[in-house]
Amino acid sequence: MISANIDSVREAIARAEQAAGRAPGSVTLQVAAKHQPLENLLEAAACGITTFGHNLVPQLVESTAKLAGAGVLATHTVIGPVQSNKLRTAMDHADRIDTVDSVKQAVRIARRQEARIDEGLAEGPYPVLIQVNSAGADTQSGCAPEELIDIAGRIAELGLIRIDGLMTIGAHTTNAAEIHASFALTRELSEQMRKLPGLEGAAELSMGMTHDLQIAVAEGSTLVRVGTAIFGPRPA
Ligand SMILES: *Cc1c(COP(=O)(O)O)cnc(C)c1O
Repeated sequence: MISANIDSVREAIARAEQAAGRAPGSVTLQVAAKHQPLENLLEAAACGITTFGHNLVPQLVESTAKLAGAGVLATHTVIGPVQSNKLRTAMDHADRIDTVDSVKQAVRIARRQEARIDEGLAEGPYPVLIQVNSAGADTQSGCAPEELIDIAGRIAELGLIRIDGLMTIGAHTTNAAEIHASFALTRELSEQMRKLPGLEGAAELSMGMTHDLQIAVAEGSTLVRVGTAIFGPRPA
């Protein structure tokens, strides 16, 4: 079941890449792990999934430990909002935080990274994506699109953070034009951001979920985060 679903999602991504004239394999499939038991994540890993996104820090801690214990080599990122009292734990267990949306939060990450380097836990800057609230939704986190360039410039100057790119959820609607618009805006912001000094390589664009991954790939996504299409509907 999970294996067949992953095949279908991979085929959908491949078709979307081809339709958009993009190179095969230019989009990575990230499994959205929220609420999934370990055996489901192990099954996904057995299908060759190498990147997992976690919403909640306690689940991040538990599943990274268990997957590593089972010999799974994978990259784990945080795709949900992180409260400041959980930042330290999130950084110690995730390879990247994909939901940074303020300079204040970035300053905390930079401070903690300095301590991690002193403690021998890390070398170099901590990787992040900046989350953009591209649809201007009240219920979504992320910085306002018009603030992104300023925020990215200030975070880049902190030195101890490496901005890898942008993340967005996009318009939560069935209106394809609105979804296109929110993803297109994020891609344009990414292009603008990469003109800033030191950010030329910040090309990761995490956008697209089960219901809008084709649109996201058409608009330049490099990383789609998929849960439902792989595991079925989540328990309420
Ligand atoms: C749950 C979640 C996903 C996956 O959504 P599906 O619709 O189940 O594919 C992707 N990104 C974030 C931030 C999520 O919280």
